[in-house]
Amino acid sequence: MFKKILIANRGEIALRVQRACRELGIQTVVVYSEADREAKYVRLADEAVCIGPAPSAQSYLHMPAIISAAEVTDAEAIHPGYGFLSENADFAERVEKSGFAFIGPRPDSIRLMGDKVSAKQAMIRSGVPCVPGSEGELPDDPRELTRIARAIGYPVIIKAAGGGGGRGMRVVHTEAALLNAVAMTRNEAGAAFGNPAVYMEKFLLNPRHIEIQVLADTFGNAIWLGERDCSMQRRHQKIIEEAPAPGIPRRLIERIGTRCADACKKIGYRGAGTFEFLYEDGEFYFIEMNTRVQVEHPVTELVTGVDIVVEQIRIAAGEKLQYRQRGIQMNGHAIECRINAEDPYKFTPSPGRITMWHPPGGPGVRVDSHIYTNYFVPPNYDSMIGKVIVHGATREQALARMRIALSETVVDGILTNIPLHRELLVDSRFVEGGTSIHYLEEYLAARR
Ligand code: ADP
Repeated sequence: MFKKILIANRGEIALRVQRACRELGIQTVVVYSEADREAKYVRLADEAVCIGPAPSAQSYLHMPAIISAAEVTDAEAIHPGYGFLSENADFAERVEKSGFAFIGPRPDSIRLMGDKVSAKQAMIRSGVPCVPGSEGELPDDPRELTRIARAIGYPVIIKAAGGGGGRGMRVVHTEAALLNAVAMTRNEAGAAFGNPAVYMEKFLLNPRHIEIQVLADTFGNAIWLGERDCSMQRRHQKIIEEAPAPGIPRRLIERIGTRCADACKKIGYRGAGTFEFLYEDGEFYFIEMNTRVQVEHPVTELVTGVDIVVEQIRIAAGEKLQYRQRGIQMNGHAIECRINAEDPYKFTPSPGRITMWHPPGGPGVRVDSHIYTNYFVPPNYDSMIGKVIVHGATREQALARMRIALSETVVDGILTNIPLHRELLVDSRFVEGGTSIHYLEEYLAARR
């Protein structure tokens, strides 16, 4: 096992990874920007290295600074968390070439899955069902484009091969709008992701977002850890996640889960990963794979009892998976609410000083957050300041526990989206379960 790991991230996930390291008896090095000097995990770490000023481009995205921090502290491995450099194949490669272990997949797997066109092609080869769409990158020829869209059938969605974070997508309802939409998405993709390649998919009208968590070791073993339902989204950003997904027959989930684990074996995947699907009318359609730990991993941890971050570290250290598929069972129900520093209805960011923080507690309640009373939420990064996760024997119990937990939670000094969560937790459609990815936007529009 490693003696020392460098955590190349910030916020709640830096604290989460640090907790896993401490449990394994591993020393931690955290890197931080000038804006995060006061962070809790910086104080708790065995060593901390300032890697630059607040802007991420000069700190959390600055590869040479992170690698030199690992060199000067004699760390053996680097955990990238999520976001920032976690899905950057060049970073993973530089980490490995500099003699450190990268706690994540091999660079070529990140590269394969990071390009959504090559990812889809790999999935089709591995027998994972995909959204019907163009065979690969879209050509320039307008007549060809029109033909492809007609064959798929409107509405279609134009997506950037290098897209992420819910950006670089455009829905097209009519042929008249097609060529312009392709051109605009191409331009945006080139500017935002440095890759103008786009592809086309059928736009599913009322799908749910269902994803499968996997773990694979370097000995050819791969398992799946059940599913998560992440359909509650605004602008393609998830805000509530749960496991298991309400109302989907187990045999359908098992079939798709097995396909995902098999695909991992086929592509020689290593570490933790997530296969994301849209689910509609009893069918699963692969949309993309995330080659890292996800924000919503705790719901899976609560229902399966597997510590995903600990397993990531063990796998990177060359250990064999200590679980077999037979041993993975989903017990009860878990729900996660992401707490964002933002106006609950206008969604404008609300950074600033937290004058009071009372986290919730009680049976089945877990809080993953780095904040504390008097903590200053910097304006430079993502607005998520923590997650409240609950577990119950049933979905009803989990919902009740989440309502109680959020009624106890106090965050003063800044605005948060807790009032919106409280509303959704008593909304009859959400309580019933199985709402689509459009539900939250429709709910917000109706509320206005
Ligand atoms: P990103 O990497 O930016 O998160 P994804 O491919 O995972 O992009 O898509 C993000 C979200 O966009 C999905 O969760 C879903 O809400 C919506 N979406 C993507 N593809 C489709 C599609 N073919 N039909 C309907 N909605 C889609």
